[in-house]
Amino acid sequence: MQQAQYQLIIVGGGPAGLTAGLYAARGRLDVLLIEKGATGGQVLVTDWVDNYPGFAEGVSGFDLIDKMTAHADRFGLQKRFANIASLDLTGDIKSVTLENGEVLTAKSILLCTGARPRKLDVPGEYEFSGRGVSYCATCDGPFYRNQEIAVVGGGNTAIQEALHLTKFATKVTVIHRRDELRATKILQEKAFCNQKIEFLWNTRVAEIRGSKTAGVEELLLRHSNNEESVLKVTGIFIFIGIAPNTTILPLDQLRTDESGFIITDHEMATSIPGVFAAGDIRSKRSRQIVNAAGEGAVAELSVERYLGNQAFDQPLNCSE
Ligand code: NAP
Repeated sequence: MQQAQYQLIIVGGGPAGLTAGLYAARGRLDVLLIEKGATGGQVLVTDWVDNYPGFAEGVSGFDLIDKMTAHADRFGLQKRFANIASLDLTGDIKSVTLENGEVLTAKSILLCTGARPRKLDVPGEYEFSGRGVSYCATCDGPFYRNQEIAVVGGGNTAIQEALHLTKFATKVTVIHRRDELRATKILQEKAFCNQKIEFLWNTRVAEIRGSKTAGVEELLLRHSNNEESVLKVTGIFIFIGIAPNTTILPLDQLRTDESGFIITDHEMATSIPGVFAAGDIRSKRSRQIVNAAGEGAVAELSVERYLGNQAFDQPLNCSE
């Protein structure tokens, strides 16, 4: 019978993947984590994290991921930075085909591919992407020093990033489609008290306008009473939720919800034996970094149960 190269392959190196990797390395599994870019996922582009337990003063997204990566590294987690072309999750041995044609096999797979920002899907959004349209305040905020900009959305990300953008912009107009924010109350308070933030309620962006040379110049807004107005801004930051990163996933093999997020049970098991999912790629209501990390731990413990007691099929390591 064909032998798998690994007991576990973790796909994705955000908080869920890194925590699962830490647990698996400590559990002495033969584990490989595959990540396409740098570890960290969405946290890497989050300016400031104020609600991760243990960091009483708050921590930057970059530093938090740096610490999570170093923690997993301390226990010898093997990582591979490569693009995955496809996955075959059926059968007892799962296979991961990399874009260079190499095929890696494992007895179990943990999917931690996360999510990405949703698009508004209005005229001008694609055309001006990177020239005034942004989905990352940490990356692009400094380009808008002393300028007037807009943020779209009413969730935690929109309000948190609007606050961050006030460090650079002279005015940040938050455009929200309802008259009530979804963001947590402490963020709402901070935003309502911030002199640089203005709110436009019951309003949607209908079009993003500008020119080839200047980039974004103005937004055509449509209000709930069907009236239209124009807002002059040089940048628009869009934070209207997230979509699952499923490009490499065999969706014909996995059960997903209507938005494409993977359905698991409480132990993080998917509809396929030996395949688990954790973090933002899961179908769920709460998407916090601490949830993702917790789910990574639960998933890895489920993997150990799935694999059975195979402890110490490697030489003992008495140096730690
Ligand atoms: P979210 O909570 O789903 O909020 C999305 C916002 O965008 C909502 O206000 C929604 O309006 C609005 N929206 C959705 N589609 C829209 C459209 N087509 N046009 C205009 N507005 C639209 O998404 P998120 O803020 O990205 O957060 C994602 C997850 O990460 C959440 O679970 C959130 O709690 C979590 N998160 C937590 C923190 C933290 O704890 N500090 C920070 C960031 C993110 P409605 O309100 O009308 O639906």
